[in-house]
Amino acid sequence: MPNLEEMMAVGQTCSEYTPILRGPQASQPDPEDISCENCAHWQGEDEMCELDIYLEQLLNLDQT
Ligand code: SF4
Repeated sequence: MPNLEEMMAVGQTCSEYTPILRGPQASQPDPEDISCENCAHWQGEDEMCELDIYLEQLLNLDQT
């Protein structure tokens, strides 16, 4: 099960991150707000990333 810390770490390094932020944040999202949780590709805790790269990204993080 993904946790918020990991989702943020992945979102901040993911090249496919596509923000779904609304309002003033939409054009210039705060880097600290970037997370899979607010990525257009995120399908929820069960299905996770629709591109199926979440776990791959997470593993890459561990190697750094
Ligand atoms: S949901 Fe998928 S595409 Fe979006 S930031 Fe996370 S891993 Fe990347």
